[in-house]
Parts: sequence; C-alpha cells; structure tokens
Amino acid sequence: MSISELIGATPLVPLRRLFPADGPRVLVKAEFLNPGGSVKDRIAREMVDAAEAAGELVPGSTIVEATSGNTGAGLALIAAERGYDAVFVCGPKVSDEKVGVLRAHGATVIRSRGDVAPEHPSSSRSIAERLLEVIPAAWSSQQYDNPHNPAAHRRTTGPEIWEQTGGAITHLVANVGTGGTISGTGAHLKEVSGGAVTVIGADPAGSAYSGEVEPFLVEGAGRIYADRALWPSTYDESVVDHLEAVADAESFAWAHLAARHEGLLLGGSAGTALAAASRWAPRLTAEHTLVVIPADSGRSYLSKVYDDAWLAGQGLRDEVERIIGVVRERRGLRAPAALPLDALPEDVRPGAGALQPTA
Ligand code: PMP
Repeated sequence: MSISELIGATPLVPLRRLFPADGPRVLVKAEFLNPGGSVKDRIAREMVDAAEAAGELVPGSTIVEATSGNTGAGLALIAAERGYDAVFVCGPKVSDEKVGVLRAHGATVIRSRGDVAPEHPSSSRSIAERLLEVIPAAWSSQQYDNPHNPAAHRRTTGPEIWEQTGGAITHLVANVGTGGTISGTGAHLKEVSGGAVTVIGADPAGSAYSGEVEPFLVEGAGRIYADRALWPSTYDESVVDHLEAVADAESFAWAHLAARHEGLLLGGSAGTALAAASRWAPRLTAEHTLVVIPADSGRSYLSKVYDDAWLAGQGLRDEVERIIGVVRERRGLRAPAALPLDALPEDVRPGAGALQPTA
C-alpha cells in the first residue's frame, strides 16, 4: 500500500439539517478525505501515472506546476512518495495554509502576481513555462490542457457516484476551475443514465464561465480571463446544463452553515456548490437525488473564510452573518451557543485557573 493508492473511493454524506427532509436527497462527496485533502488528488495521480507510462516523467525529473494549491498538494505528495522534486507557482490568492502544505512535502513555492494577463511574463503560467525551460528534466502536468484531468473523473468520480447512489442520482453540482471535475464526472453520469442526469456548474459571481469578469475571493473555482479562446480544453461546456453564479458572501455563508450544522468543514468553493444546490432543492422532490462535489476541506481556509477578522476586512462579515441567519430561520436551526466565559466560576474563567484560551 502506498499513499497514492488511498486516493478516491470517498463516501457520500447525506445533509440532514440544511435541506428539508421532504425535498430531494442531498449527498456530499467527501473529497476532503483524500490524502492531499481535495478532489484534485485524483487528477494528480492520473496525470503522473500517465506521464510515467509515457516516459515523460523519469527518475530525476522535477514536477513544475502553476496551481491554486490543491493540484499542487496532490502532486507534492506523489512527488514525495516517488522521489521527484517539485516546484509550484502560486498566485497571491492561494491561502498560506495551502502553500505551507506544499512546502511541508519538500516542494519549492514561488508566489506570482495576480493582476496580470496569462501572457504577461509575471503571470503564474509564464513563470511556470520559464521554469520548464531552465530546469533539466522538468515536467508539467499542464492541468488545464491535460486529457487525463477530466479522464480521472470519468474513470473514478463518476462511476463511484453512480454505484454509491445505485443509479439514483438525478442532479450533479460541482465547481468549474479547469473544468475537469464537472466535465469528467458529468460526462460519465450522463452516459450511464442515458442523459437523465442534470449537471449544474456552481460558479463564483465574477467568473467568466457564468458572466462578466469581476474580482471574486473564492479560491480555485471560476475563471478570471474572459477570452474564450483561452478557456481550458479540460472544460467541456456541452456537459453542463446550467450555471449558477454565486456571490462570495453567499458562498462563505454556506461553508459556515455546513461547518456549524452538518459537521462538514469545507472550503469556500464548496460553499459556492452548496449555495447552488440550495437554489435547486426547492424545485425538486423526494424522488430526486442531488450530489454535490465539494473540492476541498475548510482546513485550508482557517485564516480566510473561517476568520472573522478576514471576513470583516473584505467587508463581507455582516452579509455572511445575515445569510446564515436567513437559512437558520428557514430551517429552524439554532445558532451554536457561545459559553458565557465571564459568568464561569473563577477557577475556570479565562485568565484565571488553568483555562487560557488563545483568542
Ligand atoms: N475549488 C477548488 C478549491 C479547487 O482547487 C478547484 C481546482 N482548481 C476547483 C474548485 C475546481 O475544480 P476543477 O479544476 O476540476 O474544475
């Protein structure tokens, strides 16, 4: 057994509190249980295995990748497992937690500028291209243009969901970054269901996939370049039936709701997907099964999505709290109560006795 063999075969977790019991069955594919913490482990393994088989990745090779962190985490753990060096180029949006994971696996990380077009020499893509030229035996997965990216989902994620639901899935909700997850999983599910599965893309508002380009804060999902000619070949638009554009505050509110009311600590783009699912659930009945694929775990965003001060600094805290309040009211959910620390007996009060909270 090696660590990359543990990738995939993730369970489906039913959401019981955020969605009404008399509506569709809503199931979350627990991709955060992959060893690298995200759905992207699947493509990392598929792309590396294919490159090894083709002789493109050989002993002594260095893996070079421009990444929003999750593909990097998958590649970094496989690099560590198989003895490759790795260099990753991450834009400024990539959380420190994700960069820390890459470095922990022994990879080198270069931070790029986020405010330039892909063809600019300071873009992540250009820096990665330059590194490929100057590092001997360098290999890049080119995840935006690698057919093994959607193929990984066609081979694993799609069949898993079909089998786990006993063919009952009627709706799939996933993000679109490279488009690999939604295109590969969606293509398989459409194929085996005779076209009966509806595929819904959950897109950050401001992403080119669903509208006009504007800045957004959700990481890893969406596209910041409008030019269709530069859209990734890994995104097959024909598989996607609907796109839902979700604002940052709504995405983050749904991430918080899942953490506080379902016990699922998920990333910001998973919040985007849950928000999109919440728009579809009222249109569906108990006959339907809706499967959501969250890309990753909330552990990568403790300093951002789950940090009150960060949310406030982005001007989003009040709106996030408001949306959480609306959903709680609708679902009859009680906010987790904070312990009234000042009213505690003196020996367990903060600052006294043994109890010394850090915040
Ligand atoms: N969310 C996050 C956090 C991601 O890292 C990614 C991958 N870039 C996605 C969503 C989108 O997945 P895909 O690239 O398969 O479309």
